[in-house]
Amino acid sequence: MNIDRRMFSLIGGHRAPFILSIAASGAAAVMVIGQAASLSRLVNDAFIEKAPPAALLPSIGFFALFSMLRMFLGWLGHAEANRGTIAVRKDLFGRLTGAIALRGPLYARSLPSGRLSTTLIKGVEALDAYFSQFLPQLVLALLAPLIILIAVFPVDPVSGFILLATAPLIPLFMALIGKRAGAMTDRQWETLSRMSGYFLDMLQGLPTLKLFARSRSQHDAIADAGERFRTATMKVLRVAFLSSLTLELVGTIGTAMIAVAIGLRLLTAGLTFQTALFVLLLTPDFYLPLRQLGLKFHAGMEGTSASKDIFAVLDGAGNGSIDRSINGPIDGPEPEGHQKVPFEGKNTPEAAPFHRSEIRFEGVSYSYPGSTEPALSSLTCAIPAGRTTAVTGPSGAGKSTLMNLLLRFQDPCSGTITAGGRPIGEYPVEAWRELVAWVPQHPFLFNETLRLNIMMANRSATEETLLRAVRMAGLEELVDRLPAGIDTPVGEQGIRFSGGEAQRIALARAFMKDAPLLVLDEPTSHTDPELEATLQRAIGTLMQNRTTLIIAHRLETIRSADTILVLEGGRETATGTHRELMESSAFYRRAFLEHGESVQ
Ligand code: ADP
Repeated sequence: MNIDRRMFSLIGGHRAPFILSIAASGAAAVMVIGQAASLSRLVNDAFIEKAPPAALLPSIGFFALFSMLRMFLGWLGHAEANRGTIAVRKDLFGRLTGAIALRGPLYARSLPSGRLSTTLIKGVEALDAYFSQFLPQLVLALLAPLIILIAVFPVDPVSGFILLATAPLIPLFMALIGKRAGAMTDRQWETLSRMSGYFLDMLQGLPTLKLFARSRSQHDAIADAGERFRTATMKVLRVAFLSSLTLELVGTIGTAMIAVAIGLRLLTAGLTFQTALFVLLLTPDFYLPLRQLGLKFHAGMEGTSASKDIFAVLDGAGNGSIDRSINGPIDGPEPEGHQKVPFEGKNTPEAAPFHRSEIRFEGVSYSYPGSTEPALSSLTCAIPAGRTTAVTGPSGAGKSTLMNLLLRFQDPCSGTITAGGRPIGEYPVEAWRELVAWVPQHPFLFNETLRLNIMMANRSATEETLLRAVRMAGLEELVDRLPAGIDTPVGEQGIRFSGGEAQRIALARAFMKDAPLLVLDEPTSHTDPELEATLQRAIGTLMQNRTTLIIAHRLETIRSADTILVLEGGRETATGTHRELMESSAFYRRAFLEHGESVQ
């Protein structure tokens, strides 16, 4: 079977427990020999030599000692393998979520939702079995028979040769069967991933399906998918049972051959009773790890199959910067070759004068996969440094696409986006995103305390900076009202915030991050005018002296922007100040007048 070298690379810095586990398993195999030697001696002395009971005591003592040591070492081997596995799993989980986060929300959305969760949960679990069960067993299957062979050869070469000749049959059969089982497990895995993806999508769409009276047909489709998974699983199990049967057979035949060979030589007195018993006692232990490997084979196969999806997620994150987010702590030292983006320094609003770089879109086009109409076509525009650029346009004009490109959630199909004259694609994604603060329309709050939710942008910030961000975002009053203040848990296990409150928390994050470039998807107006005013004030402060791109929904924001960019059908149709656009853009004039009337 193909044991992917990359699987071993996952062990990374957690080698110590695995090495300890192997050493314990090796030592346990030596104890097996001690057990067999003391037991054969004991039986020989008691029944053949008819020794007095007192003379048997040392053998009994040794046998008990070896048995206990064997048990202890076996336990230690398992415990260490599990300890190592937990570490690998934790690491891998972090790397996977890091890779997904780096690729942005569009990547997560581009896959059926269940598929990603299958990879994350079932996949990591399957790898768990690989590391905690299959891998230690594989090492044991190589080590224990070798140690036993070394013990048997000097005392009885004939049995040694039989063991040596039959042992390779087990891995040989396993490899033959394994090839077929591998393909089947792959298929089973694929079916499971597809089924859970499908199931989750159905579940999410259930109200819609009900609405259109389509739930019955989907019920049948789910039943079909379940049946396909059952068939695939049964096939895998059939092969798994067949392989254990074969392995048992080889083990049994081997043992029988040794028993016959020993029996014959005992009759002709070519072998002492004690040696014969010693070899016979060891024979089952010789085949045992190999047979058990057969039982763990399925775990190994499943782990290898699952790893393909896992590596696909890890690899997909691409462009070099992933290594940083994977291997190093986010706040860790800058890796070599980590380039600074051409913004000067990480700024505080007070640290004037700013040297900030203009962002330019040059002939940028983007089409969503599978869509014929480009979402943006040949867009050329500038977002001037230190000023506010408002993007406006009808729904579907490409505003969100423009924002996603700037946040590097997706890359342009053609054209370039530059910052200070250098394509932003030249910089590691993470370094780029360090310089961008993003306030989405529907910010996500984690099941953590409010403090951690705000601090996520800058974990090393001082209490003073945190409180300042809270104040700037207009959250002070809200925090005062919370039962445990800023340490109140948020989300499923805690307080739920309204949309407007969540947005102010996102603003506090942006204040904390204090990045030179601000990308803001302006909240659509709220019913509470007081809340709205607080929010607008906070946004206004945040935008000061920063290069800001704002997808604007409010007239006031658009009117006060330094530059307004009008997008229609993926193209820029007008750009300028409010006054200029009232003259030059029909869309702008119409939209403004319509809304203008409604707000008056
Ligand atoms: P806006 O934010 O101005 O409403 P978008 O940037 O969301 O516009 O969309 C621009 C175009 O791209 C629209 O025609 C929309 O249908 C299409 N589009 C947006 N997101 C996707 C997607 N994930 N897959 C396919 N097409 C999309």
